[in-house]
Amino acid sequence: MQDFQPSTDAIPVAAPKARSSHQAKVVWGTREVRIGGDAPVCIQSMTNTDTVDAIGTAIQIKELAQAGSELVRITVNTPEAAAAVPYVREQLDRMGIDVPLIGDFHYNGHTLLTDYPACAQALSKYRINPGNVGKGEKRDRQFGQMIEAAMRWQKPVRIGVNWGSLDQELLARLMDENAQRAVPSDAKQIMYEALITSAIQSAQSAEAMGMPGEQIILSCKVSGVQDLISVYRELARRCNYALHLGLTEAGMGTKGTVASAAALSVLLQEGIGDTIRVSLTPQPGESRTQEVVIASEILQALGLRMFNPSVTACPGCGRTTSTTFQELAKQIDDYLRQQMPTWRSQYRGVETLKVAVMGCIVNGPGESKHADIGISLPGTGEAPAAPVFIDGEKVTTLRGGQIIAEFQQIVDNYVAQRFGA
Ligand code: SF4
Repeated sequence: MQDFQPSTDAIPVAAPKARSSHQAKVVWGTREVRIGGDAPVCIQSMTNTDTVDAIGTAIQIKELAQAGSELVRITVNTPEAAAAVPYVREQLDRMGIDVPLIGDFHYNGHTLLTDYPACAQALSKYRINPGNVGKGEKRDRQFGQMIEAAMRWQKPVRIGVNWGSLDQELLARLMDENAQRAVPSDAKQIMYEALITSAIQSAQSAEAMGMPGEQIILSCKVSGVQDLISVYRELARRCNYALHLGLTEAGMGTKGTVASAAALSVLLQEGIGDTIRVSLTPQPGESRTQEVVIASEILQALGLRMFNPSVTACPGCGRTTSTTFQELAKQIDDYLRQQMPTWRSQYRGVETLKVAVMGCIVNGPGESKHADIGISLPGTGEAPAAPVFIDGEKVTTLRGGQIIAEFQQIVDNYVAQRFGA
């Protein structure tokens, strides 16, 4: 066996690559969300209410915004929905919610944006799907009408291609051309090409009409993880428009969460993606805000943004038979989340707090020392004592039935002392 020696070369520290794209500005009132360039990756979400129900839609938008969504997209599919948009906006303004709204248009966006100027004005960005703006000669005209509306109202657009509604004429043409080649490409590769071509050619048409490239955001959404990675790598290589990133129809629960995290993480680490959405199907009874929570967890896990204090907890094993540490980890996590709306305005930087809740002596003290505050609970056979560490130093040992309440108080004191200044 070869003798292993430590290397003297420094191991590179992993970090996401810098992004390089145009920067778009999405504005409502005094609120400005920057997308692309050196702006932080921002979080989007979408309502699932009927937009005609202006009150219900406004309430859901408020929930999404309060959960951390920085842009919220709403369906604008009928004249009634377009007529309701200004009322949705008005309700939000009354509630003090200034999150910019994006109108999601398919098939009739050119008509709605022309016939309902108050809707066009109340929205802060328009989503245009080039596969759903019309066929043949109508396609260019109707797409042009939407771009004209965007320029008239000085709104940015997202040209959002989706493989479920890909421009079939373009796809058929590319398939035919491929079939003529001596060595045809795989059908999947032609589909990738059609997605990218549809997005970039549409963006170029918009620019030819006078729309600044900075006001255009692109997306090419597919539902397979490897497909999304392939498409976005190539899209980012071929253009410098800001990119909206998301796995479309990600699915429900764990599957949707894991697939979105897998796909988005690879691309974000490569510096691809300026705004993200997790297209999660809510479980029955689950809040729509779950997609925002997951999106923020992805960005925080990658170290791209910090939203909430993090709780490191061990998974538990045969060394700990009690559920105390699971309960403590959950209660502390819940408590920190509950406190954040208040703490965020009171304690600058509190979102960087790191708390560790560990199950036994094996990794407990070590992991606790790496955190700002850590507690190492007693495992099976250990003395019933829980040492607490602050900034790497053991400060006290908790015992008895009040450990959870006492540890929470220690966290409160630490937050006030460190972030209150
Ligand atoms: S810290 Fe202790 S209880 Fe937790 S997983 Fe490691 S060995 Fe098990």
